[in-house]
Amino acid sequence: FQSKLPKVGTTIFTHMSKLAEDYKAINLAQGFPEFDCSPDLQKLVDKYIKQGKNQYAPMAGVLALREAIAQKVFEATSTEYHPVNEITITSGATEALYVAISTVVNRGDEVIIFEPAYDSYVPAIEMNGGLPVFVTLDPQYEYIDWEIVNSKVTEKTKAIIINTPHNPTGKVWTATDLKQLDLLVEKHDLFVISDEVYEHIIFDGLQHISAASIPSLAARTFLCGSFGKTFHTTGWKVGYCLSPKEFTAEFRKIHQYMVFSVITPFQFAIAEFLKEPEHYLSLSSFYETKRNIFNNAIKDTGLTLKPSEGSFFQNVCYENLSDEHDLALAERLTKEAGVASIPISSFYDQPSDFRVLRFCFAKNNDTLLRAGELLNKVI
Ligand code: PMP
Ligand code: GLN
Repeated sequence: FQSKLPKVGTTIFTHMSKLAEDYKAINLAQGFPEFDCSPDLQKLVDKYIKQGKNQYAPMAGVLALREAIAQKVFEATSTEYHPVNEITITSGATEALYVAISTVVNRGDEVIIFEPAYDSYVPAIEMNGGLPVFVTLDPQYEYIDWEIVNSKVTEKTKAIIINTPHNPTGKVWTATDLKQLDLLVEKHDLFVISDEVYEHIIFDGLQHISAASIPSLAARTFLCGSFGKTFHTTGWKVGYCLSPKEFTAEFRKIHQYMVFSVITPFQFAIAEFLKEPEHYLSLSSFYETKRNIFNNAIKDTGLTLKPSEGSFFQNVCYENLSDEHDLALAERLTKEAGVASIPISSFYDQPSDFRVLRFCFAKNNDTLLRAGELLNKVI
């Protein structure tokens, strides 16, 4: 083969999950919940399977689900997305992101991304002949330097990818960040791809500010979301993309030949489950408790906590404790302490000494307490 992705191997999530399995370690590496989704949601899937909703869904997705998403997004942002021609149901946010990137990126186009960055963005840009251009977040993940972002724009820049709440750092973008973004994309006529899969997991009273909430920004944005995190159903791979109708028309040309359509009875079930806002509005306090339990359980290890404002990840710095490379430490802790994490360097383009690990706290409370005990013994 002449590899399309010569630099890419197996993802760090697969690598660390396998290592966790081999060493029977607690897997705080790959981000997925340990607990099951709601029994009521499972009953709905069962209901729709028994009703015979088992053949291809419409290419754009089950209309009832698109309508439910339109209603929910309108209530949160006052922006209207038309269910018929501005909402597409995808195979998880991964497909939504890939197709959105593929829709806008042509050979030689540059795409600005913030690093550390979720691992699917760069390969998606490169497979479409584009070039990722990186803006590195400050080490404390405290602010975005918009002068630096501006300085990265060239005449080849086509799009910018944002992610709030952010994986892996847990950073939440502020209203000022979104305003700055709006000014920048307006000035340079750029597309925006906004990854909002953790929209309902946000802590300490902060608010999620969607790209959809600023009309001029929404007019340039492919908003990618997922029900995997919101309903503890990462294995269902049901996500979506919201975008203006001219964007959606191009997006669907690619979506229809990539997957055509997405698993039918699950779309009906999610559409019905979404009608009760409590099903997603309670998620932030649920995860905030878990973040606090985990942080308390590791407080005597000497690991320093980075801010985690949202998502289900806690980053910790170990520079006072060890000189090891983060991958080496993550592997050693999996083998010796029995707790797996993700080395933060895997979210950066250039290998560097970051001395930071990412732990996923989407786990049962006793698992988090046990992980704390195990880490206390080894660190
Ligand atoms: N974006 C981010 C930031 C994620 O963390 C994830 C999954 N962990 C995805 C996209 C992919 O979502 P999905 O599982 O719905 O494909
Ligand atoms: N998004 C999850 C994480 O950040 C993993 C998803 C995957 O394995 N591709 O851990």
